[in-house]
Amino acid sequence: MSLTGKTAIITGSTSGIGLGIAWELARAGADVVLNSFTDSDEDHALARQIADETGVKARYIKADMSKGAECRALVETAGRCDVLVNNAGIQHVAPIDEFPVDKWDAIIAINLNSAFHTTAAALPMMRAAGWGRVINIASAHGLTASPFKSAYVAAKHGIVGMTKTVALETAREPITANAICPGYVLTPLVEEQIPDTMEKYDMGRDEVIEKVMLERQPSKEFATVEQLGGTAVFLCSDAAAQITGTTLSVDGGWTAL
Ligand code: NAD
Repeated sequence: MSLTGKTAIITGSTSGIGLGIAWELARAGADVVLNSFTDSDEDHALARQIADETGVKARYIKADMSKGAECRALVETAGRCDVLVNNAGIQHVAPIDEFPVDKWDAIIAINLNSAFHTTAAALPMMRAAGWGRVINIASAHGLTASPFKSAYVAAKHGIVGMTKTVALETAREPITANAICPGYVLTPLVEEQIPDTMEKYDMGRDEVIEKVMLERQPSKEFATVEQLGGTAVFLCSDAAAQITGTTLSVDGGWTAL
């Protein structure tokens, strides 16, 4: 599968799943645009490292995915977008009656609204190029729920719904839109949840991972960022040209339960 000549924008891609997807798309030949809101030397160094090791063009563009205008500016600044991976996401865990309003607003803005803005900006570019792939990183929580994750579950169900609509609006064009639904992947987002969970359940790290985090993941293994990158590359392949408007679970069997 060669993506040579294509440009992929991956939101929230200086760490975790987004970075893993950027690496795999670059290995498949795509030029990649990394993004986060930080604009640190390390962010730009990551882009240089991908370019050096894979031979593609790679750049970092700062844009805060909680702000609609910056989401659109990310795509405009990149100037081309054949593959759009809406990946940026945050989490906060609290009962709904205690859920901080600012956390609710931030999760809906970053995990859901950003994909609306980037997709709206990218589709005209895909149409002009005559080919496109929209890949939304949802979650097993786009298909099922867990207590205390109301904003995250609402945003992830929302992005699964939006994916279907984008697929229908582009169905007669060489553009597809799909959502990847990972189960637990050991990234900084998940790592941050471990100390609180250890305290809450009075358990050690390994016990929390096995009995709490991977409780609903029948494989009892984390999915990896490389596996998610490989799934994104597959969605860009000719074999996936008729796969649109659907979800692909990478969750060790979570949603089979
Ligand atoms: P992560 O915390 O490792 O990485 C998140 C990335 O998003 C970082 O690069 C961060 O800088 C960026 N980001 C955060 N806020 C941003 C903002 N306002 N503007 C721009 N960039 C911003 O997280 P991750 O675990 O790799 O998660 C990536 C995506 O995968 C998220 O949408 C998450 O919901 C989803 N997901 C993760 C898991 C998991 O187990 N890790 C499971 C299912 C779905």
